[in-house]
Amino acid sequence: MASGRVFQARRLPAHGVQSGWDALLPARTPTTELDRTISVDVAIIGAGFAGLSAAVRLAELDPKLSIAVIDSDEVGHGASGRNSGFLIDLPHDISSGNFGADAVAKSRDEIFVARTAIQQYARLAEVHGWDNDVFDASGKYSVAMTDGGTEHLEAYSLQLKSLDEPNQLLGRGEIEKVTGTPAFKSGLFTPGAVMVQPTALVRAVAAVFQEPVKLYERTPALSIESFSGGCKVKTPKGEVRAGRVILATNGHAESFGFGRGELLHVFTHASLSEPFDPATLGGLRKWGATPASPMGTTVRRINGPDGDRILIRSRYTYHPTIEASDATIKGAGDLHDRKFADRFPSHRHLKMQYRWGGAMALTRNTVPLFGQVAPGIFAACACNGIGGTKSTAAGIAAAELIVGHQSRLGDIFHAFAKPQTLPPRPFVDVGARLNLAYREWRAGRE
Ligand SMILES: Cc1cc2nc3c(=O)[nH]c(=O)nc-3n(C[C@H](O)[C@H](O)[C@H](O)COP(=O)(O)OP(=O)(O)OC[C@H]3O[C@@H](n4cnc5c(N)ncnc54)[C@H](O)[C@@H]3O)c2cc1C
Repeated sequence: MASGRVFQARRLPAHGVQSGWDALLPARTPTTELDRTISVDVAIIGAGFAGLSAAVRLAELDPKLSIAVIDSDEVGHGASGRNSGFLIDLPHDISSGNFGADAVAKSRDEIFVARTAIQQYARLAEVHGWDNDVFDASGKYSVAMTDGGTEHLEAYSLQLKSLDEPNQLLGRGEIEKVTGTPAFKSGLFTPGAVMVQPTALVRAVAAVFQEPVKLYERTPALSIESFSGGCKVKTPKGEVRAGRVILATNGHAESFGFGRGELLHVFTHASLSEPFDPATLGGLRKWGATPASPMGTTVRRINGPDGDRILIRSRYTYHPTIEASDATIKGAGDLHDRKFADRFPSHRHLKMQYRWGGAMALTRNTVPLFGQVAPGIFAACACNGIGGTKSTAAGIAAAELIVGHQSRLGDIFHAFAKPQTLPPRPFVDVGARLNLAYREWRAGRE
């Protein structure tokens, strides 16, 4: 075989400290590391939402395909296992003022993409009997801390109604009955979102794989060589020879040279409280609420055998090296403590037991890095912040693309523009940091 083009991984992921979700689960023994040369039909690099869903969809479409999924770390350690666990079915903003036909069509497509992703998990949940501590089709709340937030929720409710999307506005007393705190001025319930324990979810998906689908953890892809007839993925102790490669590495696409100058590496951060006696806080024992402003603070209450806990997710930070420092995690943690005290003054004494951050990849025009990026290599990357649905759907669409399966999802992904080029560094660094700071400032108390 003539030698092909080689894409070296210049950087490997460093996901950072253990997330609270992982810490709450029993320890899991990872699958074996790849230690030899194997040949498969499809190699999938990355076992997050995108990579796992691509494998599931490929196996559905052609159960005979041999598939190797490799990840540099363990399933659940990457962003897909360390997020807030909202699988969101509705766009946050349907229009910005001009609710025209284009905005409606775009929103319907976005909803279709998100629900296709959710349905894949719902099918797995049913077949494999996942309980609602893993996958809970409970819907979610949006909450407002300010009058401006309430106005936003009211406008959003009307937009959803014009799309025939059910939703329910909740006044202060009603949302207090859910959250147990008088801090929120209003809320909006939408029934289609699913709340997951993210680490448990990705572990559960990985557990459904059976021959000829095989997962190799702690197996970083060091390079991908692309030939006319296939690809070779080199790992520290082995090699995967594959007809096709799906690159499901999110921002680390850029580490191989794909999407260079197009991806913004933004982290967000979470803290999970120590357990508390559920009798000390009213409201429901399990709920999730996103902020009225997308740059605001997400809150969840979860329950377990040792009591209930509150999760706070807030703060966006920019890291072109795809790694966040301990100081960044600490700074985000201090903010979480203030956000928590503002929302649950009666429980301000409660300590945060776990704190972590995780990487996301955004594009300027909020489109994925999707499709064939080199002969035999197909990207399902750039989650744009809501990879629970977007990355899952990108993985499904990549699987459909490589086996030639036609679908509405494929049409939507096919129609996406290419990611726009960002300004060169250091301008993009300055711009990204200022933009995040400005948008967080605008979100205010939300
Ligand atoms: C704190 C936090 C809260 C969030 N909350 C939500 C939420 O509630 N809802 C939501 O939809 N989204 C949320 N997100 C975003 C969401 O987690 C991401 O969008 C999503 O996980 C992206 O999935 P992915 O599969 O594209 O990428 P990842 O989950 O990043 O998966 C990529 C995988 O590729 C692997 N990889 C990379 N390079 C290599 C290599 N060279 N070799 C082998 N493997 C490699 C990595 O180890 C990783 O496992 C949140 C994120 C964070 C950090």
